[in-house]
Amino acid sequence: MSESSNNKEVVRLTPLWLKKLWNVAINNNDRDETLFLDEMVNDFLKVIEKVSLVIVTDLQGRIVYASKDYLKMSGYDDDKIVGTMYVNLLNHKANSANVFAKVENSIKHCTGVNVDSVHNRNNDERVVFNTFIFPLMYSDKKFANLILHQDVTPLMQAEETIKELVTVDVQTGLKNRKQFDIDLVNKIESDRLKNCLTALLFIDLDRFKYYNDTLGHFTGDKLIEVIAKELMLFENEYVSVYRYGGDEFTIIINSSLKMDTIEKTANHILERFQKSFIVRGKELFITATIGVSLFPETGDTSSTLVQQSEMAMHYAKERGKGEYQLYHPSLQTKRDERLMIEQRLRLAKDSKSFQLFYQPQINLKDSKVVGLEALLRWNDEELGNVSPSKFIPIAEDTGLIFQIGDWVLEQACFQAKSWSDKGFKMRMGINISPKQFQRPDFVSKVKRILRKTGLDPSLLDLEITENDLLYNREECFKTLERLKDIGISISIDDFGTGYSSLSYLRQFPIDTLKIDQSFIKEVIENTNDQAIVTSIIQLAHNMNMRVIAEGVETTEMVLFLNERQCDEMQGFLYSKALPADHVMKFVTDIEPTTVLH
Ligand code: C2E
Ligand code: MG
Ligand code: MG
Repeated sequence: MSESSNNKEVVRLTPLWLKKLWNVAINNNDRDETLFLDEMVNDFLKVIEKVSLVIVTDLQGRIVYASKDYLKMSGYDDDKIVGTMYVNLLNHKANSANVFAKVENSIKHCTGVNVDSVHNRNNDERVVFNTFIFPLMYSDKKFANLILHQDVTPLMQAEETIKELVTVDVQTGLKNRKQFDIDLVNKIESDRLKNCLTALLFIDLDRFKYYNDTLGHFTGDKLIEVIAKELMLFENEYVSVYRYGGDEFTIIINSSLKMDTIEKTANHILERFQKSFIVRGKELFITATIGVSLFPETGDTSSTLVQQSEMAMHYAKERGKGEYQLYHPSLQTKRDERLMIEQRLRLAKDSKSFQLFYQPQINLKDSKVVGLEALLRWNDEELGNVSPSKFIPIAEDTGLIFQIGDWVLEQACFQAKSWSDKGFKMRMGINISPKQFQRPDFVSKVKRILRKTGLDPSLLDLEITENDLLYNREECFKTLERLKDIGISISIDDFGTGYSSLSYLRQFPIDTLKIDQSFIKEVIENTNDQAIVTSIIQLAHNMNMRVIAEGVETTEMVLFLNERQCDEMQGFLYSKALPADHVMKFVTDIEPTTVLH
């Protein structure tokens, strides 16, 4: 057996071992004190120095001895160290006040202690020691303190790595859900004492599943990584970002900040999602929805806060995605309401409680009705009239939209054909939900319905939203081309509420832009809206697109739009959506003069 392995077996320093040795020493009462101390310490040191770095101090804590190994490790000379205070060897920044107090107390009162402390290694590196301080006593007399150091740095580093592995999301490098849970609890506890505000932001990517399915999981993963990097940029001393799981991220915003800072952060995050993300050389657009809860305002415990922010996020998604929503108790009721709508919708899809109404679209030049938009109405036995803005998103989420959408398409085409047969050849605008549009059999379905109803395809106008075109550019392009080949026209609905990129839309075969009613609403008093509407009309005309203004409610709006050469309009000023049997009367009765005079 080699000497070193032999040594290891013989000398294994444990507190128990030391205690035994010590008991032998103090029971030997016949010896002279000084002799005892010298011999005892020397014997001890010889053995102990083999396994640990040794320092001996006097009762005031001044160093009287430092072992060779300690000197070598620390980079100090013997004459520099002897005579100085032991506590000065402790790194001032890396040790807590608690460590200093323990060491000082133990030396001063000869109580002995075992504590982890950080020393400097050759000045610039740090080393963590498991430190034993043993008071040296004989009878009632106290002589010195024997301080033993065992290097536990590798152990600590391993612990750090494990901690990191357990609390960091390996894919993105963000802190993970576990760390989030720990941090949120700690933050709440410290804020409870300080009477401060903490905000929790729950971020969920919109339609991430769709990306994953169409572009492949590899690209999906890369997209998550790119987004995580962008979110990391929001981190600072007040803001911590976490990967909660899948396509969900959470952000804790610190207490000392005010509510408007929290809103600003949420808005800045959403703004970032207005721009594209570059993934494997491709430009991808994806939005995110954020739910916000507040401590102590909305919730008092970490689990309540998480639940509330998640609920607020879901609520925002239902309303249209790409937004943030602060939790409010009424959201709970809304959730119940949603479940109720979903239940009733499942029953309604086969019944006769759906009806189509038609809103006239009017040409600004001659005030003629040139088109009609089919708008779905649902009158449920129990719920009464439910707005499509409420039930369409639920139908989309649950997949019920396919059946409902097919019914709308067929019904509206039949109606348009029947009016056309009577000599009223008006374009029929039909709202198409993104889910319908993205189905591979969409074009063939439209063809089948056209054949079945006999409607001239040039009278059919499909309304899609601009965001639909962002997700799968090539597929969308192909679908649109095929629809154009049949002779159908395409409108972009609610223009201005999505990415609003005309240069992007230019690539697609689009006939009409429908300016969202939110821009028309205040167009008379709001100069910003005026500028937006004016430039949308100009740019659309440059690209040979027709423009329809939605939500026209006053004659001032008509005059404004007419001056800007807007082509068509629809709105309550002329008519709300009408049941089919009222439409003919409206079309024949409308006086050209009523519009511009
Ligand atoms: P949209 O396609 O933008 O339809 C225009 C909405 O604005 C309609 O609301 C219409 O009633 C309303 N509106 C029209 N003129 C005015 C006005 O002057 N002032 C105001 N304040 N509002 C006006 P509606 O019928 O409640 O429909 C809401 C949304 O539901 C539609 O917005 C559309 O996105 C969706 N939707 C309606 N029917 C269908 C459908 O059959 N299929 C699909 N996928 N979505 C539909
Ligand atoms: Mg529409
Ligand atoms: Mg619209």
